[in-house]
Amino acid sequence: MMFALGKHLLESTIFALFVGVVTLVFRRRGPATRYMFWLLAAAKFLLPAEIFSLLGSRLAQLLPASHVSHAVPVLLLRWVAPSTISVPPHTANTNVLNLLLLVWFFGCAVMLISWLRTLWRAPDFSESRDDPSQETLQRLEQRVGLRQAVKLRFSDSIAEPLLFGLRKPIIMLPVGLSGKLSSGELESVILHELAHAKRRDNWTAAFSHGVTCIFWFYPLLWWIEQQLHRERELACDEMVVRYGAAPGDYVAGILKVCRLQLSESVAGTSGVCRSNLKNRMEAIMSLSAQTTATPTPKTLMGGLVAAVFLVPILVGFFAPVGAYGQNQLAIATLPSDQASAIGCLRSIITAEKFYRKLYQGGWSPSLVSLGVPRKGMQPSASAADLLDNSLTSGTRRGYIFTYTAGPKDLRGKTTKYSVTVRPITWRKGDHSFFADQTGIIRWTDKNRAPRATDAPIN
Ligand SMILES: [Zn+2]
Repeated sequence: MMFALGKHLLESTIFALFVGVVTLVFRRRGPATRYMFWLLAAAKFLLPAEIFSLLGSRLAQLLPASHVSHAVPVLLLRWVAPSTISVPPHTANTNVLNLLLLVWFFGCAVMLISWLRTLWRAPDFSESRDDPSQETLQRLEQRVGLRQAVKLRFSDSIAEPLLFGLRKPIIMLPVGLSGKLSSGELESVILHELAHAKRRDNWTAAFSHGVTCIFWFYPLLWWIEQQLHRERELACDEMVVRYGAAPGDYVAGILKVCRLQLSESVAGTSGVCRSNLKNRMEAIMSLSAQTTATPTPKTLMGGLVAAVFLVPILVGFFAPVGAYGQNQLAIATLPSDQASAIGCLRSIITAEKFYRKLYQGGWSPSLVSLGVPRKGMQPSASAADLLDNSLTSGTRRGYIFTYTAGPKDLRGKTTKYSVTVRPITWRKGDHSFFADQTGIIRWTDKNRAPRATDAPIN
């Protein structure tokens, strides 16, 4: 499990680094585009390639074998193919793993609870229907072209305007703020919040913070969240000026608001002042109403989405049939002898499946029948060329493999088989394994022959 998590984090980190390079190369594309890139980088942390490659492999299994190609680069296959092997760990490892899981769960719970409390508990507010900013809001809503109505409320427990709520967003203004701003400044401040509503920033901010809560121990996600925050504000600034606010009024409005700012930042809400002010002021003053929105490059975005979804699905789909049972990379990271034993057992199970297809429904009569034929001979039912001879000899890395063929049917085909894998010399903590025609691998840590009633490992 720790290996799978580490691999997933490494894979997501490499993707985030790639996204970082892409945002640098396409920095002139504007903050809205950069925001989409960083959002995808955050989403990648919830989308392990293994899940999609497994999906691809399941899809391939639904089709006839002739549809399955073997032309997948080995490196890609080894990286993306799922580490399906799970070994009963030693007790000491289990304790460490349980402790780490507990720490993760506790951190996750604390973060989620404290965030959701602030997200769902609206500050006390009043309606003030006769406040002049209500009329400003109605006018601006039409200008922005929002699909859903946004309400305007006033609260004395906030010190800066913010957009609150996900399904029914509410713009909240500090009580008395509208009296301290000129009409142009008030308009630009409300436009800023409407821009957040139009872009559905509260949803995406909540999503990215949710990912950060799950991976709270990983600093990169905190950093990505900061990038998202910065790009989100810059994207809204562009929209505010594009919707007709004078940059001078806008900057003055933000500065006035920020002088009053006292509240704390809440992810999933959007406020005016939570960003690098100096850079923002400079960026706003460089904008004009003629500044056009730069569309997100669809090909590039599509390519990044494909890297996250399609590539692993295709790798899983076109991978060799046995690849998902013989993930040597995963095996290599487990306690070596056990991992080797399980890997060999999986190879035997896969070879048996092939053998049964090739030789009309019968399982192999012996382990040797799965092995390599003699020089110059063609593969046959007594040497099917499906397993390495070093394995068919019956011993590998401290383990003995004992193959037992079941009774034959009227056609002379073997109807079932079983394989036991036992350490040559049993020591406390060692495991023995068992598999049969069901393909399920079972294990025991007792000093006896493993059997079909033992616990499965996967
Ligand atoms: Zn904002």
